[in-house]
Amino acid sequence: MSEFRLIVNKAIRIAYRSDIRSRFRLSHSAYASLSAEHDVYKQYIPSAFEVAMGCLKAHRRRTRRGRRASVPYLRRLLLKAENQAYRLDRTTGQLRIPLRAREHVVMSLPLSDWHRSFLSDPSWGLGSLTLTPDRVIITVRKGAPEPHTPEVVIAVDTNEDSLDGVVASRAEVAIVSIPFPEVRIVRATHFRRRRRLARRKAYDRRVQRILLDREGRRERNRVRQRLHRVSKQLVGAAKARSAAIVLEDLKLNGAGGRSRRMNRRLSSWPHGEIHRQIEYKAALAGVPVIKVNPAWTSKTCPVCGARRRDRVGKVFVCLACDWEMDRQINAGMNILKTALASNEALARAVRFQPGALRHDVVIPLYDFSAQPRGARDEPSGAEYVAAVT
Ligand SMILES: [Zn+2]
Repeated sequence: MSEFRLIVNKAIRIAYRSDIRSRFRLSHSAYASLSAEHDVYKQYIPSAFEVAMGCLKAHRRRTRRGRRASVPYLRRLLLKAENQAYRLDRTTGQLRIPLRAREHVVMSLPLSDWHRSFLSDPSWGLGSLTLTPDRVIITVRKGAPEPHTPEVVIAVDTNEDSLDGVVASRAEVAIVSIPFPEVRIVRATHFRRRRRLARRKAYDRRVQRILLDREGRRERNRVRQRLHRVSKQLVGAAKARSAAIVLEDLKLNGAGGRSRRMNRRLSSWPHGEIHRQIEYKAALAGVPVIKVNPAWTSKTCPVCGARRRDRVGKVFVCLACDWEMDRQINAGMNILKTALASNEALARAVRFQPGALRHDVVIPLYDFSAQPRGARDEPSGAEYVAAVT
């Protein structure tokens, strides 16, 4: 591992000096010298180049944003191998990692049922292997199936503790709301804990840093686990109904300029994370995902198109036609409208008339009581769920 790190760092310096930006050019100018200097299994050298290019790319992004950054350096100990380089026995978990020509180590990986579910399914191919002092990471990959033709559209607005919007088919429209109230509670709890920690450890910046980082990691894991439940439910429901999912594109900050709401959303980690989960799960399930520009979605009337320029309260009320709707559901309807306007296949499948919306029908996409209660649930979050169900 330390030798691999050395090769990566040498490669970074070579690439940095001569401003090389492609792996191909780097390997052209550095392979011969590095492979002569280092007696390692030859396939590790291109892997090291890949890691080096990754470091440099992150470095360029940092400098572009105007942050000062020194020449990047890989500090972590790691080893990365492509799937031709290592051998893994998919039933026993025996892993064979080559070191040099005719020399290798064998280790036995403990496999859980979850691991086996991937390894026993031949449609999951093995990807690269990353070895660090405390873990072995093997990526798995699968070709995504062709997405199905949508007959239904689920359009949702992403909020702090729910996804809200509408389900529309040719025949009818209904409100859909997927709450995840525990996420807000987990975040608030950790926010308080972090502040308390920061105060208590104010005298020791180093200890404070370590503890705060750990808090941050635990919070992310807790939130992520809950978001996984939501994204799984949504994608499952979409697949069962042959639906497409429409989300707002968080990377666009549309023509409406940046409002405070937009800024908060762009910087909000759970939003990006839940979209990331929905997108990859949808791709695996063959559910099409469409992203639309979110500008004005919370301030437009879906019936007559009038916009409000002032603040919208909990309920959106149109000043032109008296349309009234919960603000978050309203935003979901506008997201659907934007998608229909820009996507012909959707427009053919769905007719959306907000006026036909039946207020009393809320389609239950997310059923808390059907969820297995994970042992890792945090007390505060779990209590709240129990209260909701
Ligand atoms: Zn209106």
